[in-house]
Amino acid sequence: MTVQDNLEQIQEQIKEACLRTNRNPQDIHIVAVTKYVSIERAQEAVKAGIKHVGENRDQGFSAKYDAIGDRAQWHFIGTLQSRKVKNIIDKVDYIHSLDRLSLAKEIHGRADGTVKCFVQVNASAEESKHGLSTEEVISFIKELEPYSNIEVVGLMTMAPFTEDEELIRLCFRTLKKLQHDVQALNLTYAPCTELSMGMSNDFEIAVEEGATFIRLGTILVGKEF
Ligand SMILES: *Cc1c(COP(=O)(O)O)cnc(C)c1O
Repeated sequence: MTVQDNLEQIQEQIKEACLRTNRNPQDIHIVAVTKYVSIERAQEAVKAGIKHVGENRDQGFSAKYDAIGDRAQWHFIGTLQSRKVKNIIDKVDYIHSLDRLSLAKEIHGRADGTVKCFVQVNASAEESKHGLSTEEVISFIKELEPYSNIEVVGLMTMAPFTEDEELIRLCFRTLKKLQHDVQALNLTYAPCTELSMGMSNDFEIAVEEGATFIRLGTILVGKEF
């Protein structure tokens, strides 16, 4: 399948999820996750109209960035080791995996200006998942104040890998509720207007529950390796 064909199908599904919940499809941004595919396939996605590209390793990130550059916005979506920050900091537009102060410090120190970050939350409380527990999020965000190059644009989560739709929905709802709590803090560096949630197997539920960035790999560009 071409990326164009996949994208049209996905946009239709987004439109329907928006109709069900009274949302505007324009508020949902698709991040094409290209970690499983070649540079050529990533370029095809951009030609098909994709405006956001995401990678989870610094090397894959740089390889795709070097080929595509500012024809897309660049999202780092995976666990980010502090020592890798320097490799991506001049290229990245959004970091989806801020989960510790040591990383915040490194981003702040290396960045030339504001970096848009999502705080990653383990909203399903699965042991295997990265991210802060829901109880830790508010105090963590308060502690980010000294790192003035960091803007908390939103929260990010990964739903449990399950067939149980209600469990997935609950996870997304938890993130949405937490977003309200963060917004109530009224911190200028943490507007928290965005929610990064939803992947290939659960993006329709995520859209219904308020996602503004959905991260799509397999269903959009496929899986070559
Ligand atoms: C790989 C990955 C995705 C995309 O996964 P698909 O199921 O292929 O859509 C989304 N988010 C993160 C954090 C990922 O690592």
